[in-house]
Amino acid sequence: MALTIDCFFCYEKIVIPNEEEFSYSEFIWDCDVCCNPNLIKYQLKNEEIIDLKVTSGNE
Ligand SMILES: [Zn+2]
Repeated sequence: MALTIDCFFCYEKIVIPNEEEFSYSEFIWDCDVCCNPNLIKYQLKNEEIIDLKVTSGNE
């Protein structure tokens, strides 16, 4: 599955290929458009995203 997020900085849609099977994950992803770091936190349940937060990775 892949995650689709809105960049915290430029609001562009970013698609992140995700091979992980963790039920909870937190990572930094640099936006392809503006190159700013997005801190992405998400939680999976039954392969559905039940919680997804995108904040600044600069904190
Ligand atoms: Zn961006």
